[in-house]
Amino acid sequence: MNKCLSEMTQRLRRISSAEFDVSREFSHFLSDILSEGQQTLDIARISAWLFDNIQQPTKLINIANTDWPDGQLPELAQSRSEDPLGDYPYLNYLDFPIYFKAIAKGFSIAANDATTHPDTSEFNGCYLQPNGITTMLDTVIFKNGVPHGVICCEGRGGKRLWNEMEIAYAEMLADCCSRRLLVKELSNLQNKLQQLAFQDALTGLHNRRFLMDVSRKEISRHLRSGEPLSIIMIDIDHFKRINDMYGHEIGDVVLKQFSDCCAKALRVEDCLSRLGGEEFLIILPATNIEDAVMVAERLRTEVKKLVVEHGPLSLNVTASFGVCEVDLQKPFSKALKRVDEAVYLAKDAGRNCVMLVTDAATS
Ligand code: GH3
Ligand code: MG
Ligand code: MG
Repeated sequence: MNKCLSEMTQRLRRISSAEFDVSREFSHFLSDILSEGQQTLDIARISAWLFDNIQQPTKLINIANTDWPDGQLPELAQSRSEDPLGDYPYLNYLDFPIYFKAIAKGFSIAANDATTHPDTSEFNGCYLQPNGITTMLDTVIFKNGVPHGVICCEGRGGKRLWNEMEIAYAEMLADCCSRRLLVKELSNLQNKLQQLAFQDALTGLHNRRFLMDVSRKEISRHLRSGEPLSIIMIDIDHFKRINDMYGHEIGDVVLKQFSDCCAKALRVEDCLSRLGGEEFLIILPATNIEDAVMVAERLRTEVKKLVVEHGPLSLNVTASFGVCEVDLQKPFSKALKRVDEAVYLAKDAGRNCVMLVTDAATS
């Protein structure tokens, strides 16, 4: 670091203020900051690590590394698991307790000679020599004022006397990474909120808002393709009786199991949503009314076979189905009205059946 500190920090601050793609891996969206630090500090590599749990860390997870090609995960981590950090390499607390405790204190570790420094000598043999690392400068990533991880600057080729300026620069590097991590976290939260806004809390199905959104897109897509679009409305039979006889809680269990049963019987491209109460709607892309009636019949049979189990209770349910083909030239609300009429016909016909309305019947 021969040039003046302000020039170095300004470049880093500009880079870290750039927009980045939050949907990518950590290693990708931290790569510009890390490689800038690597060049400025003139070191072999920089890696970023996060604790698995801020209160009680048991692992330090290696989320990014300047060694990884094109900012990607290394070979050893290929499968994507549920846990966003589940596939990354990590260090165990039990193997490196002194290092973990040093980071948890929040101070930077300037290990001029990594093999003899008390906070890094645990890496002797297992990490330093195999990677040719001789010197380390580690600065803490904070979150809400608490150590959350570490940026590890690693050098090869012997000892290095880290000066105050380099330490301050590496600390700024860690702060730039923590800011990016925070943006990523906010974006994840925003995605989750958006998902919740379009989801029915009880059944986990799409809600009415989602349905109206999808209907607009599907109508426009089908107008272009010229393919037919059909919908099915479902209304559980005598649902009020279930609530009255067994209580609202059991009614909710029925709604959930009923939803799962229908979802399982549909194609992935069919959009099942809860309209409200015990009423559901399915949008069936590229499906004519004859095929939609067959789908409704299949669903009706599946629902009839369904036994809702809850504790000692075993309940059977049936539902009434209305089917119609959407007139793509008219607002979707018209199709909803027509399919609702079909459900009424099914109720009138004694429930547990499928009825359809065609243009001829309603115009
Ligand atoms: P039909 O066969 O004519 O459709 O009769 P029904 O009893 O199913 O229809 P009705 O519209 O009379 O009753 C629907 C009931 O659904 C009334 C309402 O209390 C209940 N309900 C609506 N939302 C929920 C819910 O989220 N949970 C539970 N448990 N019940 C609900
Ligand atoms: Mg109803
Ligand atoms: Mg009903």
